[in-house]
Amino acid sequence: MIELLGKNLTELQAVITEAKFPRFRAKQIMDYIYKRYIFDFDAMQQLPGDLREWLKANCVISVPKVITEKTAPDGLTKKLLLEMADGNRVETVLMKQQYGNSVCVSSQVGCAMGCIFCASTTDGLYRNLETHEIVAQVLLFGALLKERIHSIVVMGAGEPLQNYTNTINALRLLHEKEAFDIGYRRMTLSTCGVVENIYLLADEGIPITLALSLHAPNDTIRREIMPIGAHYALADVLAAVKTYYEKTDRRVTFEYILIDGVNSSIDNAHELGALVKSFPNCNVNLIPVNGNEHIKLFKPSRRQTEAFRNIVASYGVSVTVRKEMGDAIQAACGQLKIQQAKKEAE
Ligand code: SAH
Repeated sequence: MIELLGKNLTELQAVITEAKFPRFRAKQIMDYIYKRYIFDFDAMQQLPGDLREWLKANCVISVPKVITEKTAPDGLTKKLLLEMADGNRVETVLMKQQYGNSVCVSSQVGCAMGCIFCASTTDGLYRNLETHEIVAQVLLFGALLKERIHSIVVMGAGEPLQNYTNTINALRLLHEKEAFDIGYRRMTLSTCGVVENIYLLADEGIPITLALSLHAPNDTIRREIMPIGAHYALADVLAAVKTYYEKTDRRVTFEYILIDGVNSSIDNAHELGALVKSFPNCNVNLIPVNGNEHIKLFKPSRRQTEAFRNIVASYGVSVTVRKEMGDAIQAACGQLKIQQAKKEAE
């Protein structure tokens, strides 16, 4: 069977014309899927009967099953646990921001990176998500809300630069006007720093925002909390990020999880400020760690967090403390998936 979800207009036209149907039908099918959220070929009434029959016999639109849907008490964060055709599950999160709906997608089932603070990596990597499985996460929120999706952040489970082609294809499709028409400037990809692929991305010709999960002001601390720190030196990661900035002219975001007693001292704040101040226009996003019973890591006090922020800002860097959306529904970092698996095991 041919998977139609995740195909761009050109690819869909190829499928349709190969089956000897007129090319313009491809756009109609895309309209049904991405603008009207109709996934059942029988309900695509504008298509002639013979095409519908052919589609039913030869094609599928694999929309994942929604296992749980949770909404935070304030109504601003929603989280879906989705089950793929092979039974694997991923989480996807919607954040209603002032500027519009933002969807946080996963790029892999599990993750191989092993960062000590992150719940998505506890069981390692199961597999990469296919292009259509990444696109489907946005599609399902569109269908659920019947509202426009304003922006995408690739910050869910997985390391997107380890699933490079499928992730980039998904973003390109979401950008197409026949699909969601989301501007590249409204897309952010977060990586722990797979250096070679940051260089690839810089030449991709899609001006998305790059967010680097920095999380440490030096190699010693980075290696302690992120195994990838042993693979790539910070200097090399930052050189790649600088190239990305120079080639795309997109301002870079540095994410920095604050963990009490690990990377949140006054000295660490000075080190961080000195490290990033040479990045024109960069933005540092401080994220008080979202702890849970698995990881035994704790966020610093509000006072310490504020002091850390002020020191970094004194280096002339723009720095924000992330709003903690979604705590109430375990929206962060693989926690809902773990919770649901536990419930089902009981
Ligand atoms: N692999 C990519 C994308 C997934 S992780 C990356 O490393 O960037 C994306 C982000 O999830 C991290 O930067 C961090 O901001 C957040 N994150 C992971 N675990 C967290 C935790 N326990 N508390 C708060 N944020 C966390």
